[in-house]
Amino acid sequence: MQYNVCMKIAHILCALSLAIAARAAGKPEEFKTSAGTLTMTPIQHAGLMLQAGGQVVQIDPAQGSYDGFPAADLILITDIHGDHLSAPTIAKLKKASTVIVAPEAVAKSVTGTTILKNGDTKSFGAWSIEAIPMYNLTRGPSAGQLYHDKGRGNGYVITYGGLRMYVAGDTENIPEMRALKNIDVAFIPMNLPYTMTPEEAAAAVKAFKPKIVYPYHYMGSDLKVFETALNGSGIEVRFRDWYAR
Ligand code: ZN
Repeated sequence: MQYNVCMKIAHILCALSLAIAARAAGKPEEFKTSAGTLTMTPIQHAGLMLQAGGQVVQIDPAQGSYDGFPAADLILITDIHGDHLSAPTIAKLKKASTVIVAPEAVAKSVTGTTILKNGDTKSFGAWSIEAIPMYNLTRGPSAGQLYHDKGRGNGYVITYGGLRMYVAGDTENIPEMRALKNIDVAFIPMNLPYTMTPEEAAAAVKAFKPKIVYPYHYMGSDLKVFETALNGSGIEVRFRDWYAR
């Protein structure tokens, strides 16, 4: 009897410590939508989780620990690189009904993928997903090559309950980003040599004026430069730790 009580207490303590570990990884943020509250949790580097209406959406689950996370209803993958695409992590988060949305280049290595090309829009229940181009303008591994060729990867505009969130993926300051309209929350990369500088990222953000912007995928970048460049723009810059895991 005594042993059983001790085991129960141990289980409760274990569950509590898991919950605390999950929170420390990046504080969840809540957003009001016309369909109820949406919660965004930063995971690591390019990974983030959205939860709303009892559903879980994982975006680029590739780095950091996903132990103890709920199975995903929708998984969005932006590109083929290892910091965005991890087959073992997808397998860990997948259940029978999970829908995986990705560009064609990703579908070659992930079976059962629903392919969205740049410019395509598709709804999955209450979630509307629009694929936005993401690519390099100038940067690449050698002359004449780019890290991200136009058409291979997808950024996404995700709409839920009227809330429009833009996850840019690995991209430079491209015209398709600058032309975006009515974005409430944007996740923008900045790191060299693969994406862009904080100055370029700020210039891109000023062009399409999201209400709120989070730097993500920012390893090694000076976020203060990004913040300073957006001073007085009316755009709220929010910093969250994308490297706590
Ligand atoms: Zn990347």
